[in-house]
Amino acid sequence: AKEFGGNRTVYYSETAEREVFEKVKLRTELRRALEREEFLLYYQPKVELRTEKVVGAEALLRWNRGGEIVPPIKFIPLLEESELIHEVGEWVVREACRQAQEWRSKGIELSIAVNVSPLQMKVPLFAESFMMLIFGCGEGSGSIEVEITESAVMEDVERMIEILKILTVRGIRTYIDDFGTGYSSLAYLKKLPVYALKIDREFVKGIPQDEDNLEIVKATVNIAKSFGLKTVAEGVETREQAEILKELGCDYAQGYYFGKPVPPEEFESYIR
Ligand code: C2E
Ligand code: CA
Ligand code: CA
Ligand code: CA
Repeated sequence: AKEFGGNRTVYYSETAEREVFEKVKLRTELRRALEREEFLLYYQPKVELRTEKVVGAEALLRWNRGGEIVPPIKFIPLLEESELIHEVGEWVVREACRQAQEWRSKGIELSIAVNVSPLQMKVPLFAESFMMLIFGCGEGSGSIEVEITESAVMEDVERMIEILKILTVRGIRTYIDDFGTGYSSLAYLKKLPVYALKIDREFVKGIPQDEDNLEIVKATVNIAKSFGLKTVAEGVETREQAEILKELGCDYAQGYYFGKPVPPEEFESYIR
């Protein structure tokens, strides 16, 4: 751009061009990543606040791009744009089942929660296919859990209720992820057959000093309780936060205070 005397239009269009090029390249690489088995799952502990015991793990997708571990925010949108999310989503479930079985064989009994993209749930017979996938892996229900974002639920509530019903009847625990960010109406919340609400990190941040957030968390825990739902607090980073949440009656917590997402071998050290 400099040879044009700092002409802004040229500078920006070059940048835009580079970005498009990067995106195309990334998409091609992602297509190969699945075949080359470059995806992996990290696991973050989920702790029961009352007992401080690790009761489960959340599987979080990573991409090993030539030794660099790429976080999901960098590539999930691209997977969604290119339809690859369906294949990768299936891989996530199969890998989580495999891990649950490996851990079980080592005497580690844990539930594993997988995140499901709203696009995956738009496919007809999603719930039925999901159950087939799990049973196909030789995994009964009970160890695999499903996290669905609140915004995905609100996009098509009636359909989601049907999906959640099928999963629940088959023994799958379901969670509303990022709760508080998607404007659920109370009327719907009461109708949703889910196990728990995951209070988004944004609202846990800064408590107990942040009084607004503290009130939001309090209210959420109480609403959940009155509807017979459990609560999970995300993004718990301090001892103080864990204690407050426990006092408020929040059931479970996740966050750096209890453990960051790590590869499965490292996860095992959390629970020994
Ligand atoms: P999420 O489901 O809300 O996951 C929680 C995110 O918060 C994770 O980021 C986790 O590493 C991070 N986190 C956990 N505890 C703390 C904490 O104490 N402090 C802070 N600052 N952050 C914390 P991650 O792993 O980068 O995942 C980001 C998002 O990517 C997830 O948000 C989820 O929406 C999506 N994602 C991850 N794996 C999958 C997947 O397999 N499929 C789909 N469709 N989406 C996925
Ligand atoms: Ca999640
Ligand atoms: Ca979240
Ligand atoms: Ca999220």
